[in-house]
Amino acid sequence: MTQIYRYRRTLSRCFGRVVLLYGLEVGERGARPGPGRNEVWGYRVNLCSEYIRQHTTLKTLVNPSACSCHGSSPIAKENLKGLKMKRVIKAVLVDLSGTILIEDCKIPGASEALDRLRKTDVKVRFVTNASKESLSMLHGRLSALGFGIARNEIFSSLSAARQLVDQRQLRPLLLLQPEALEDFASVDTANPNAVLVGLAPDHFNYDALTRAFRLVLEGADLIAIHKGRYFRRSDGLALGPGPFVAGLEYATGRHAEVIGKPSAAFFRAALDGLGCQPEEAVMIGDDARDDVGGAQAVGLSGVLVRTGKYRPGDEALIEPPPAHVADSFPEAVQYVLQQLADGAPAPADDS
Ligand SMILES: [Mg+2]
Repeated sequence: MTQIYRYRRTLSRCFGRVVLLYGLEVGERGARPGPGRNEVWGYRVNLCSEYIRQHTTLKTLVNPSACSCHGSSPIAKENLKGLKMKRVIKAVLVDLSGTILIEDCKIPGASEALDRLRKTDVKVRFVTNASKESLSMLHGRLSALGFGIARNEIFSSLSAARQLVDQRQLRPLLLLQPEALEDFASVDTANPNAVLVGLAPDHFNYDALTRAFRLVLEGADLIAIHKGRYFRRSDGLALGPGPFVAGLEYATGRHAEVIGKPSAAFFRAALDGLGCQPEEAVMIGDDARDDVGGAQAVGLSGVLVRTGKYRPGDEALIEPPPAHVADSFPEAVQYVLQQLADGAPAPADDS
């Protein structure tokens, strides 16, 4: 196991914690405790040549005896040098707010970049935590801006929350803006047995939050559309629902169930029907934790854009870091197109 720890940085830098991507398998847990920030840390890692043959163009590399198909043995550092691998990209998930638009203003070049992406075989889906308006209102706003996005291309945390409410037959207290209530039409809200929190400036006051607090304390489920800390408005950064959800958690000692990004279930559901595995998809967004970190934890490759809520240094908030940081959505699309054309660059040498 000592050898594994010695190579942890290499693995982290080259492959991130999504070590399943390129044929690296997580095996038995090591005896030495790790810091808990990296899934690779503390685990025995082996190369799986069968997976490599099926999913990558690695020219390698390893003695077959070092492959988990042929028995376990630690990965050798020299086997990581000079690797050239081509990533198969079948789908791109795109965040909305802060990535292709800010309120009613398009990010410059976003429409044109989207058109370039659509000319490839890659499938595109828009994944959003937006919760202050219904899906139809959001779609109408995008259409008015000329994005040409179909309604069924949008995967919204608000819609996912509605599905959850129906599945569990919940009667939620809806801390949502009036514009978002359309997505919860016909839901029984009498005698609430759940509290559902979205971005709801109209409800984030003492009386409304105290009512929510009392319900959760009495046993109601606490469900967050998402726990975004803040988001970008045209007049600057503004508080998201996260601080208010955290306040309810603090007061009640309960943990909220999070529906949207960065929930793993949300990303997996967003990929449903796209015919690809997580490692064959890229997520582009302006939130290092919720967009990029959440996606990379599931196995996608994450591209962080320096627009919207991005602040200098955000890329250091997550480990592993984003696969790529782009100045804007058009540059992120260019990166994806480059990956499609040429394959990913060789990983950095850790020596
Ligand atoms: Mg965003």
